[in-house]
Amino acid sequence: MPTLEAMGDTHEPHLVPLPGPDAHHRPPAGTRRPWENIDQAQAALDGATGPEPPAPPLCPECGLAGERRPTHTGQHVLLEPGYPLPAHLVPGGHRWYLGGDGTAWNGGLDEPPPGATCRIPHRLACPGLTLDEIRPWRWLEAVREFNTDRARRKADEDGFPGALPDVG
Ligand SMILES: [Zn+2]
Repeated sequence: MPTLEAMGDTHEPHLVPLPGPDAHHRPPAGTRRPWENIDQAQAALDGATGPEPPAPPLCPECGLAGERRPTHTGQHVLLEPGYPLPAHLVPGGHRWYLGGDGTAWNGGLDEPPPGATCRIPHRLACPGLTLDEIRPWRWLEAVREFNTDRARRKADEDGFPGALPDVG
């Protein structure tokens, strides 16, 4: 009789309550990994940008203390201290979840499960940064830039928007 183990289906079920980029790699802590450079770039993109110990867990931009947590990439993220927020209210890419061992991981752009709560990086709430620097809605920025180009091209081609048939 095939067991669940044989089906490769039962490993660490308690570690995968939510989907996320880190769900694919949860190796033992301290192991050096070939994709580490890629993951460090991803970590910077995700916001796991320290400050790294032994530096104090203070924001380099505003000086406020954050809640520093290790991530699965080996780098640390400074989370905004406080209670969890409804994940659906937090911009994608800034939803941080804490595993049972206190390790933080970024849920990426995945849809949060109904009722899920998450933490936010301090950076998202930092008074030392402007919204232009924080860029909380990066995917929306990309759409806006794309549409800016489209609108400019259309204005150039049409002269007066609406005066000519829409040729796409
Ligand atoms: Zn700050």
